[in-house]
Amino acid sequence: MGLRQIAQRLLPRVTTRVAWVPGHKDVLGNEEADRLAKEGSELPCHSRNCSTITFIKRWVKKKRREIQDDNWNDNYPESYKAGRWGLYKAPSMPPELHLPRPILHRLLAERSGHGDFTEYHERFGHDARPTCKCGEPRTQGHFVKCGMVAPFLPDVPEREARFGTTHIEYLLGDGGYKDFQKLVEETSPYGPPPTETDT
Ligand SMILES: [Zn+2]
Repeated sequence: MGLRQIAQRLLPRVTTRVAWVPGHKDVLGNEEADRLAKEGSELPCHSRNCSTITFIKRWVKKKRREIQDDNWNDNYPESYKAGRWGLYKAPSMPPELHLPRPILHRLLAERSGHGDFTEYHERFGHDARPTCKCGEPRTQGHFVKCGMVAPFLPDVPEREARFGTTHIEYLLGDGGYKDFQKLVEETSPYGPPPTETDT
């Protein structure tokens, strides 16, 4: 199979042009192509799959993602860098988007402060002053300090606790969303106050 046909099968939506470029002249992309060719030539070819189009497609996809991620990590804007909770190091789909809607809503509200919080209503001059079931104002991040939630707070995993990660940083960060979900499901201090039938 010729080079052009291989390129067409790997990247059907991309027009491929084959051109000769002089080596070692800092031609944009040439150094990267050299590096990838070298890496490709070192692939373990004892596996029968490694020469199939499917294998190569997967490999190209993986490489493309790695290059994108590296580029993003080197160049992402300052506003993302702050990533108060260490978020979005790369433009991959954040896994927490798979959470059930109401849980995701809570997570995003706690991260952003845009939700049914006391300070949010104050900022916009609303009359509402929502309180937690424990009686404290319903402030952003209150859930980790709430006496009603405390018994259910999961431990911060050892590997994170070593770096001084706090409960709120862990639960709102990109590694703690499943524990956040569990915590919300086990507790509901922000929910409607208990009715007589609950007691
Ligand atoms: Zn509370």
